[in-house]
Amino acid sequence: MSKSSVISGFYKLSPKERLAIVKNFANLTVEEANLLQESCSLPMYVTDHMIENVIGVFPEPMGIGVNFLINGKDYLIPMATEEPSVIAAASYAAKMVRDGGGFYTSSTTPVMTGQIQVVKLKEANRAKEQVLAAKAEILKNANDQDPVLNSFGGGAKDLDARVIETSMGQMLIVHLYVDCRDAMGANAVNTMTEAVAPVIEQLTGGHVYLRIISNLATKRLVKAWCRVPKEGLGGEAVVDGIAYASAFAAADPYRAATHNKGVMNGIIAVVLATGNDHRAIEAGAHAYAALNGQYTSISKWTKNDNGDLEGSIEMPMAVGLIGGAVKTHPIARIALKILNVKSSNEFGEVLAAVGLAQNLGALRALASEGIQRGHMALHARNIAVIAGAKDGQIDVVAELLVKERRVRVDRAKEILENLNKK
Ligand code: NAD
Repeated sequence: MSKSSVISGFYKLSPKERLAIVKNFANLTVEEANLLQESCSLPMYVTDHMIENVIGVFPEPMGIGVNFLINGKDYLIPMATEEPSVIAAASYAAKMVRDGGGFYTSSTTPVMTGQIQVVKLKEANRAKEQVLAAKAEILKNANDQDPVLNSFGGGAKDLDARVIETSMGQMLIVHLYVDCRDAMGANAVNTMTEAVAPVIEQLTGGHVYLRIISNLATKRLVKAWCRVPKEGLGGEAVVDGIAYASAFAAADPYRAATHNKGVMNGIIAVVLATGNDHRAIEAGAHAYAALNGQYTSISKWTKNDNGDLEGSIEMPMAVGLIGGAVKTHPIARIALKILNVKSSNEFGEVLAAVGLAQNLGALRALASEGIQRGHMALHARNIAVIAGAKDGQIDVVAELLVKERRVRVDRAKEILENLNKK
């Protein structure tokens, strides 16, 4: 029987009780569950091999987004973030979307673009023709680098070349299109671009400098869309407010930056939890948002004929289930087990749905009571901790701060002093 991601009162449980539910949902082993809470750290022999000059670890809280129904399948979403209210907002939004049938998604094949920069050419356009004529030879050379990727049906599939005008004259930019299957693909693509560079130099007589992947992954796109019944949002006025907010973000880069930041709050939390490269995802998302010359929003919301809300998102999504730190980071491995995705395409589509949910959570609050009420309620607990509150005191101090609408450290300290006098 498939398990539901709707877990009533999940937020009210203790971390131990929540973990027991997730352990059951995702069939985690006792060791995996222990790693999340008991040992709660990364072994030094692992970290010392991951990066340079290691002195320790930087822990971040990991929580679970609930209520996600995507293409009819229930998901628990592991999210690592330092920001309060992100996971609550995503879970709340996923519940509203669920009432409209859940999220639907699609994606392209997982093709990444490698760039080879050729300079010092006598005739750039002639060099372009020479490269295009040698396509088969260049692709074969690229594919010789990665028999493993080929064995999974991936590899260099196509190439393109264009001449660009720059401040240092004309350059020929060759694009190598590589199907990366279940890898993010940067190492794989970089190896291929470096390998074909001498062939391209020989063909064109030019000099190759840069040979590297592009993070503007326009050939590796994911889409998600959903319908949200107006009743769940609080009526048609809120639907209108969200549609106006969407039109604002589409037209104004100052608003679009914050709109997209809201989308990325959710996506990056999952990308981080799964050990993927979040800089690559951020770079790709924002470059894609500016692809038509003006920076704009990567999601859209409109009101349909019934007065309900409809939303959609489209963005590049270079994430992997293998490679990089994904397999070496023990917590990332557990996060991916919880997520239970079978391919990088399914993973990317889930991320698109999470981004859309996160965006909806923020826009609903913005279009109705404002973002501060929910945000400050959670932020008040941080302020209470900063002021020195411990265990049972944290909620008492936070509640009073919110009630008084004075979520400030000085006030938290006063409340604590009074509590300690009692
Ligand atoms: P990787 O090289 O560790 O793993 C990819 C390789 O795994 C493939 O080349 C293939 O040989 C093998 N493989 C095994 N099973 C596979 C399957 N089912 N599907 C696909 N490949 C399979 O990692 P990667 O994904 O090529 O690179 C990711 C890393 O590169 C990340 O750590 C990222 O931070 C880093 N990086 C990023 C950039 C950038 O984004 N600009 C630049 C350099 C490096």
